[in-house]
Amino acid sequence: MSIANNLNIIKSSLPTDVILVVVTKTHPVEKLIEVYNAGHSVFGENKVQEMVEKYKVLPKDIQWHLIGHLQSNKVKLIAPFVSLIHSVDSLKLLQEINKQAQKYNRIINCLLQIYIAKEETKFGLDYAEAEPLLNSEELKQLKNVKIVGLMGMATNTDNQAQIANEFKSLNIFFNKLRTTNYELQTLSMGMSSDYKIAIENGSTLVRIGSSIFGARNYTESY
Ligand SMILES: *Cc1c(COP(=O)(O)O)cnc(C)c1O
Repeated sequence: MSIANNLNIIKSSLPTDVILVVVTKTHPVEKLIEVYNAGHSVFGENKVQEMVEKYKVLPKDIQWHLIGHLQSNKVKLIAPFVSLIHSVDSLKLLQEINKQAQKYNRIINCLLQIYIAKEETKFGLDYAEAEPLLNSEELKQLKNVKIVGLMGMATNTDNQAQIANEFKSLNIFFNKLRTTNYELQTLSMGMSSDYKIAIENGSTLVRIGSSIFGARNYTESY
């Protein structure tokens, strides 16, 4: 199967209001061009350096989503062009994104990454930390960042019921926050192995790599 075929199969399986981010990490630019030429231009990378290298050589109408852990000292590298940062997990990071966004006269859209998995390796805030951060005076002062939603990753398990429960609880939290915060529009949940469960549980954006490109040839932590 070609990349374009796989892309079309995924796209036709998604509800029309669910956004697809094609996760391009580890893949060479030639493969990204195949996706772009097939008509898709929303890409997700998990490493700053790799995203910057690809941004430089690819068409400038591509939307770049940073989906992996972001260190404050690297924000300046993506601030000129990043379209959504999924992995915000502290006020300190938001302050740095705000500072760098200001330099380019931009407002950078961000998601708060929420820790929903029963694993020790995943980054994110827990529910009890996220709500005060969203409502804080410090955040209101940051005019060049906008929190537009939440992101979560389920436990890497075959237990479908557990995955569903993790997504369900994040969706409940998202909907609760939305009753008072109208800027929250995006619920980023679901990757190749679990995106269908994520959509059943309220996802508005899925991040899919291996179902389009095939398995990456090395395993990594995200
Ligand atoms: C790699 C990655 C994905 C995509 O995973 P696939 O299994 O290849 O679909 C989604 N989200 C994040 C945060 C990732 O790091």
